Amino acid sequence: MIDICSKTRKELEEFFKERNEAAFRGRQLFKWLWQKGVNSFNEMTDLPKSFREELSHSCFIYSLKPFKKELSQDGTIKWALRLKDGLVIETVAIPEKDHFTICISSQVGCGMGCLFCKTGTMGLKRNLEPSEIACQALFVKKELSKSLPVRNIVFMGMGEPLANLENVLKAIEILTDDLGLSFSKRRITVSTSGIVPKIVELGKRADVGLAISLHATTDKIRNKLMPINKKYPINKLLSVCKNYNLPKRRRITFEYLLIKGINDSLDDAKRLSRLLAEIPSKINLIPFNPVDGLEFRAPDFENIMEFQEILKSKGYTTIIRKSKGRDISAACGQLCYEMET
Ligand code: SAH
Ligand code: SF4
Repeated sequence: MIDICSKTRKELEEFFKERNEAAFRGRQLFKWLWQKGVNSFNEMTDLPKSFREELSHSCFIYSLKPFKKELSQDGTIKWALRLKDGLVIETVAIPEKDHFTICISSQVGCGMGCLFCKTGTMGLKRNLEPSEIACQALFVKKELSKSLPVRNIVFMGMGEPLANLENVLKAIEILTDDLGLSFSKRRITVSTSGIVPKIVELGKRADVGLAISLHATTDKIRNKLMPINKKYPINKLLSVCKNYNLPKRRRITFEYLLIKGINDSLDDAKRLSRLLAEIPSKINLIPFNPVDGLEFRAPDFENIMEFQEILKSKGYTTIIRKSKGRDISAACGQLCYEMET
């Protein structure tokens, strides 16, 4: 059976042409799937009946099955969604003043092995298909249809999006297509631990926002925290950031996890400000969120403020990310976290 929701609009047009049907049928189908969000081919009343029948024998419409929904005191909602093969992913919706930001997953688990991250401890189970990525947004949109609009999407759920780049790019195409979910490219952010060649490719193939999980200012510490650094050390990572093809007036977001006694010294803050000097950047400081079985702790509040002050004094836009959804394990590294927009 063909996973019809994994096809971009162009691919659907091709799909129809190959079957000697007009390309516009592809566009019609695409709209039914993503704008109207129907669950059966039978509902697609402007497609010929015979064709609908044929489709229902050869294709399926993907749907994620919610089996757990948790609501945090701060309004954050986390869903556990079951995939067709029984594996589970998590998707989070974070309320802002007049909209929601959703945090979506790109893989089941993650193979990058960062020392501080709960998702990392699961290892990589598998990549998500484009349908499984885009359907998270469709699912949340439907769930929240009576509430605030879903405006921003961050790839900060489970997984390393750049380790599943092809499927992530297809999903972005579906999410931003005017006949699809019509999200603005400016409101989609891909976060990465730093797979350097894939960052270059992302910049060439999609103009979405970029967030880098930096988390350390020396290779010695970053090697320990994030194994990917041994392959792509800090200078290589920052050099592609310098040359990254940024959309107008956009900056790269640097995520900096603060762990007491590990990467939170004032020298670190000064080094960080020097490292980012030539990159249009904004900095998000994330106090470490506790993970079961890990000894790490967040620094004391005063220390975090001092760290921020140094960066501010050097002219950086720096926010301290107050984690939302902590009480339901929906915060950073417990899965994901609030994205300042
Ligand atoms: N794999 C991508 C996308 C996941 S984003 C990436 O790493 O960028 C998840 C974010 O939460 C990353 O910035 C990650 O470094 C951060 N994070 C992981 N564990 C954390 C923890 N225990 N406390 C706070 N942030 C954490
Ligand atoms: Fe994977 Fe990102 Fe967690 Fe590292 S921080 S293990 S890359 S999800």
